[in-house]
Formats: sequence, structure tokens, C-alpha cells
Amino acid sequence: MPLFFLTFPSVKDSTWEARHPNRATIDIAGVTSWSLFEKFSDTAWMNRGVEYEALKSRLIDELLDQVYHFCPQVRGKIDHTELATPLSFNHFLGRSHGDFMSLAASPARFAIRDLGAHSGVPGLYLAGQDVAAAGVVGATQGGIIAASAVLGRNAIEDMVSA
Ligand SMILES: Cc1cc2nc3c(=O)[nH]c(=O)nc-3n(C[C@H](O)[C@H](O)[C@H](O)COP(=O)(O)OP(=O)(O)OC[C@H]3O[C@@H](n4cnc5c(N)ncnc54)[C@H](O)[C@@H]3O)c2cc1C
Repeated sequence: MPLFFLTFPSVKDSTWEARHPNRATIDIAGVTSWSLFEKFSDTAWMNRGVEYEALKSRLIDELLDQVYHFCPQVRGKIDHTELATPLSFNHFLGRSHGDFMSLAASPARFAIRDLGAHSGVPGLYLAGQDVAAAGVVGATQGGIIAASAVLGRNAIEDMVSA
């Protein structure tokens, strides 16, 4: 994997320590390729076969190597690991090629004029990432664009002056 994203979600939860003293959660994400998983795409969740489990196991080891590289103090202290793969996103997010963000950010996607806040149905407005751009920030922008459409003015100015 050429790129990783390592984060500690439990640190962001102010109630965590009281509920789970001396414990923490770690998330690590790595970039992979749909081509590795495509051949398993006809299998069912929780029943994808030995070869798939072996692939998952190899990827877990690769990800844990990175965790230990940056946080050597957690070695021997991890008691549960779980890996989501592109097939998990297909299953849980209803995708077809393992993607977990929005539509591909290609020139063709940004040329689709129908992907805007105005749905064409009176009183129905669209928000979220596909109105603007991928990710949490893109989804927030989609919300501001939808608010602008509802209010009939540029709500981004409200954000800037707030
Ligand atoms: C594992 C994972 C990690 C991610 N990590 C990052 C990250 O680090 N940084 C980042 O920027 N982005 C990340 N993303 C992407 C980010 O989560 C999305 O870009 C963002 O949530 C999109 O927001 P949205 O409001 O457009 O859609 P969503 O957050 O998908 O919201 C859509 C909502 O609509 C609801 N819904 C769907 N159908 C119906 C229906 N028929 N009736 C009623 N409700 C319905 C859904 O339940 C959901 O609550 C990640 C995504 C995943 C899956």
C-alpha cells in the first residue's frame, strides 16, 4: 500500500475514558486496488472463502506493521482487529467497485449540470457530497449550496461573516 491514514477515534470522545478506562481505538486506512478484490465480488458477506480470508490476513499484517512503526508502544496490546475491504463498502454502502467516497472526481462528473441543489421537483432540494465534492468537507459544502438554493441567496457569505 503506497499511502496510509492513521487516527485514534476514541481520543475525540470526551466520554470514552469513563466508559472504557485504559483502552483506545485505532483506525488505519490504506490505499488498495479494486483489482485485488474483483474476483471475490460474487461471494457473500461473511462467507467469501479461504483465499479471501488469507488476503485479508495479509493486509491486516501490512496495516499493523505501520501501526507498530509509528506507535511501537502498542505492540502486544492490541486485542481486536477488524478489516473492511472494498467488498465491505459494496455490501454496506451499495457500491459496485469498492469505492467509499462520492462519484469519481473526473471532468465528466463536474460537467453533469443535473448534480446540483435544485432537483427539478418544487420544494425538493439536494445536499451532500454529490452536489459539491467528495468527503466530509465536500458534503458540508453541498449543505451550504442547498441552503443557498432554499434561501435564494449565497449562504456561503453567512459562513464567511459568522
Ligand atoms: C469508512 C469510510 C471512511 C471515510 N473517511 C473519510 C475521511 O477520513 N475524510 C473524509 O472527508 N471523508 C471520509 N469518508 C467519506 C465521507 O463519509 C462521505 O464523503 C460523507 O459522509 C458524505 O456525506 P453525505 O451527507 O453526502 O452522505 P452520507 O454521509 O452518506 O449521508 C447520507 C444519509 O442518507 C441516509 N439515507 C440514504 N438513503 C436514504 C433513504 N432512502 N431515506 C432516508 N435516508 C436515507 C443515510 O442513512 C445517510 O445517513 C469516509 C467514508 C467511509 C465509508
